[in-house]
Amino acid sequence: MVWGKALFIAALILMMIIRFPYLKKGNSVKHNQQDRQEQFLLLLVSIGGTLIPLIYIFTNWLAFTNYSPSLLAFGLGIFVVVVALWLFWRSHADLGRNWSVSLEIRDDHTLITQGVYRHIRHPMYAALWLIMIAQTLLLSNWIAGFSGIVAFGIMYFLRVPKEENMMIEEFGEQYQRYMSKTGRIIPKAVLTQ
Ligand code: SAH
Repeated sequence: MVWGKALFIAALILMMIIRFPYLKKGNSVKHNQQDRQEQFLLLLVSIGGTLIPLIYIFTNWLAFTNYSPSLLAFGLGIFVVVVALWLFWRSHADLGRNWSVSLEIRDDHTLITQGVYRHIRHPMYAALWLIMIAQTLLLSNWIAGFSGIVAFGIMYFLRVPKEENMMIEEFGEQYQRYMSKTGRIIPKAVLTQ
């Protein structure tokens, strides 16, 4: 459906606009864990979440795996995109200068535990999960719909343990206390009820 494709492109553009102010070089970096695995994962997510959808939208190379779009999926897609963009925006705003594409600790890094970080430790990744879910809802194609969620899923499960170890190394008990009160992408209160 053309509206699904249009909304997906609009969401990608809005994500770039949200992220843009945070791309400027911040303070010097104390620890950088951008190893080969990190670079590979970033490439994988760019391919699955952006390149393959763009190929699907602008060429007919993937048309052989199209299926018929549904209005219900489109409606749900709109809702998920709105929530995802809100969370993506708020997590950038709350993380501020501590944000980075790869795993890094800055010289003046502070531990954020408020705002959207109050109940979950990875709101930005939660927003990205939602965007990848929106991709499946908005693009009615087996390859372009699911390439994002597969790529991001691999990245999420490989990266998060490393990120949390890095945060424990840097912030020690303070991060462990924060971990005991929060969930990764679902608030702890919801999980233990
Ligand atoms: N995982 C977080 C942040 C993603 S950006 C989220 O999903 O919202 C990745 C960088 O954020 C990491 O390099 C790490 O240095 C930093 N970071 C992660 N959690 C943080 C926190 N609670 N406070 C400050 N910086 C954090």
